Amino acid sequence: MICVIVGPPGGGKGTQAERIAADLRVPHVSTGELLRAEAAAGTPLGREVGPLLAAGELVPDELVERLVEQRLAAPDAAPGAILDGYPRTTPQARALDRRLAATGRRVNVVLLLEVDEGTLLRRLLDRAATEHRADDNPASIAERLAEYRQVTEPVIDHYRAERVPVLAVDGKGPVDTVHARILRALTGAGLLPLTGRESKGGSAR
Ligand code: AMP
Repeated sequence: MICVIVGPPGGGKGTQAERIAADLRVPHVSTGELLRAEAAAGTPLGREVGPLLAAGELVPDELVERLVEQRLAAPDAAPGAILDGYPRTTPQARALDRRLAATGRRVNVVLLLEVDEGTLLRRLLDRAATEHRADDNPASIAERLAEYRQVTEPVIDHYRAERVPVLAVDGKGPVDTVHARILRALTGAGLLPLTGRESKGGSAR
């Protein structure tokens, strides 16, 4: 199962991707985390991308694609992955589709977390106070929201055009509530593998 989770910054992608990855027993692949780890380790790639991350600007497609390619080639990603923060541009989506097709795979589902702007800003400013991420400041938040609307939302249209199911989920509310909505949406689309919960006749509520 290759599941792409898309949503605005502060939409809860990372938190929910982590949960769904545990449910599906596949790795959570976050390009933001991979890039932040490179920057923190001061690798040549990290030194190149550090200023872009801090400014909330997108990292060039080819750098991100290289990271994802390496990550998806790891044995633990053979059964699938939850992709969080990638693909974030239409060229990245096309590159991913080509790479997956080369191994007979495809994106099986896109989960779209929908959250209103007031909630996003509140969450990002709360996170700024606790996690001290370099890009959780008002200027970078504005940049990331604008990037999301202009560059990432077309990725959703790309997958709709490719007839990949796009499941829109209300991302507002407590983490557990949103997680339950995602499980319901995946179950409803026939995409959740049987885990016992479903085989006992229940839906994943
Ligand atoms: P995130 O953790 O997904 O919010 O990503 C944090 C930052 O990492 C973004 O603002 C970008 O600077 C960079 N980034 C993460 N994923 C990508 C991607 N797929 N393409 C380009 N830049 C990315």
